Amino acid sequence: MMKNPTPHLNCPSCHTPVVLDRYDRACTAANNYLVCPECGYAFLLEGVLNGTFEPS
Ligand SMILES: [Zn+2]
Repeated sequence: MMKNPTPHLNCPSCHTPVVLDRYDRACTAANNYLVCPECGYAFLLEGVLNGTFEPS
C-alpha cells in the first residue's frame, strides 16, 4: 500500500507551499479558516476543498 505524501497546500496569498499541519486553524460558528504561518493570510478551508487544493 502506498501512503499519501504529507499534504501541502499553496497559500492563496503568498503561494508558499505549507504543510497542512502548519496552518493555524481558526473556526467561527459557520466556517473553518486556515491561517498561513508565513504571511498570516486567513482563508476558507471550504474553498480550498472545493477546488483550490493542489496536493504536491
Ligand atoms: Zn501565505
